[in-house]
Amino acid sequence: MAVDPLIELRDVNKYFGTLHVLQDINLTVGRGEVVVVIGPSGSGKSTLCRTINRLETIESGYIAIDGKPLPEEGKGLAELRAEVGMVFQSFNLFAHKTVLANVSLAQLKVRRRKKDEADQRSRELLERVGLASQADKFPAQLSGGQQQRVAIARALAMDPKALLFDEPTSALDPEMINEVLEVMQQLAREGMTMVVVTHEMGFARSAANRVVFMSDGRVIEDRTPEDFFTHPESDRAKDFLSKIL
Ligand code: ADP
Ligand code: MG
Repeated sequence: MAVDPLIELRDVNKYFGTLHVLQDINLTVGRGEVVVVIGPSGSGKSTLCRTINRLETIESGYIAIDGKPLPEEGKGLAELRAEVGMVFQSFNLFAHKTVLANVSLAQLKVRRRKKDEADQRSRELLERVGLASQADKFPAQLSGGQQQRVAIARALAMDPKALLFDEPTSALDPEMINEVLEVMQQLAREGMTMVVVTHEMGFARSAANRVVFMSDGRVIEDRTPEDFFTHPESDRAKDFLSKIL
């Protein structure tokens, strides 16, 4: 188990009506750890991410970020969302704002930085994701891979303690997947705490400390990538791997 837990879920249960979408989830992500979550479509991976970021409520259980239990509502929630960034499959950039403005916006509103300071930080982050020269363009002028890298820069601009990625490369053309995965690999090497839902098994093998396999709302396996890929224990994991590898 992780020595220094940053994200902790204990006995978490969530329902959508009668659908028991998260069932007794226990998961700890240590500071600096990269956890890749895989599993069949509909197994609850996105809901798990959204629950950690409190975009969804839970019916029972306990979730804490850096030792602090998730607030029910109100001010603490905005703070929490700034601490745990999320990157979605669809990049969700503001179409009518420049790349720079997209990265600066939440810094102004949530972090209350001055515009100059926010823009400077945004330029640093755009440089880091390889997009320094694109700052004044609009999202539609960029490729999908570039837009996703802007979304990553935007999440980093909040100085988050952890980042959640929900299938960040699933909407991309194949030739753009690697440029996004490389940025994520770099973040992992720099010690960012990350939960990554992905079907990119190469990324899981090379960047993950642990692989969590979900099926039907449950965590079925939670192991190192070497262990998981060479000796999956459950039939469901074996079946899943046989289809994707
Ligand atoms: P995954 O990301 O692993 O594909 P999801 O977390 O998106 O799975 O969905 C898990 C299950 O919950 C699916 O059966 C899905 O149809 C259902 N579901 C997801 N979001 C909602 C919602 N807002 N309302 C009702 N059912 C939902
Ligand atoms: Mg999903």
